[in-house]
Amino acid sequence: MIQDIAPYNFDNQYKNLKPSDDSFVISIKDGNVLLPEGKEETFPVFGQVKNLIDDYEYLFSIDNKSFYLSEDSVGLQGYKYVSKEIFRTLKPKHMAFAGVTAIHIKKWYNDNRYCGQCGNTLSHDKKQRVLRCNSCGNTVYPRIDPAVIVAVTNGNKLLLTRYKNRAYKRYSLIAGFNEIGESMEETVKREVMEEAGVKVKNIRYYKSQPWGFADDILMGYFCEVDGDDTITMDEEELSEAVWVERNKISVEFDDLSLTNEMIFLFKEGKNK
Ligand SMILES: [Zn+2]
Repeated sequence: MIQDIAPYNFDNQYKNLKPSDDSFVISIKDGNVLLPEGKEETFPVFGQVKNLIDDYEYLFSIDNKSFYLSEDSVGLQGYKYVSKEIFRTLKPKHMAFAGVTAIHIKKWYNDNRYCGQCGNTLSHDKKQRVLRCNSCGNTVYPRIDPAVIVAVTNGNKLLLTRYKNRAYKRYSLIAGFNEIGESMEETVKREVMEEAGVKVKNIRYYKSQPWGFADDILMGYFCEVDGDDTITMDEEELSEAVWVERNKISVEFDDLSLTNEMIFLFKEGKNK
């Protein structure tokens, strides 16, 4: 998965640290990221852009390299702004993870320029990743939306879905957001009922995944259909919802998403 970057170590503890010339700078403009033209493998370093940017903020470190976010538009020879979707395929993977995590943090900063209580400008705390209102004392912590990914099994078959009206056309699993007042297990049951019209039992937690593409923390669950397995598809959300036999699953391994890992686990008979 995108966050599995060993032997590299991701350290997201906030530090009030000045950049050095070899620190990476992730410059994001309108959701696009500054990367080298053609090879698109790594971000510019502070030494290259320090005379071109006024504003930068510490993000996180990977091993001994620190990463900074810049909201300034940077014109740098040999570099161009490309869609964040590049991080689905960019290598090396720890740079893709750095990029998508920066996108998530930047989105939170963008969405919280002003205090929701009193309307004053929020300022960045110097000790932790939190925004503070110096007028009314309101604090705003990073926004991370919890959501479930659900692999519903039916003996030798897995429930696969395709989204309607989305760029992503390949097979997925049932997925949806946790609602206020709901346990994750209740989210699993409700989402499966809403999208496929079946009841489930024996819900087992598998793994989680930070998914900065959509500000999410995804929690993966396996469960079994309970009783009638007739699918009633949610036609507003999905274009397809079908039981697919294990040996007929034709999904390719991508080493990126929790959904893909869970489909593969079932395909290879390794789900518990
Ligand atoms: Zn305020």
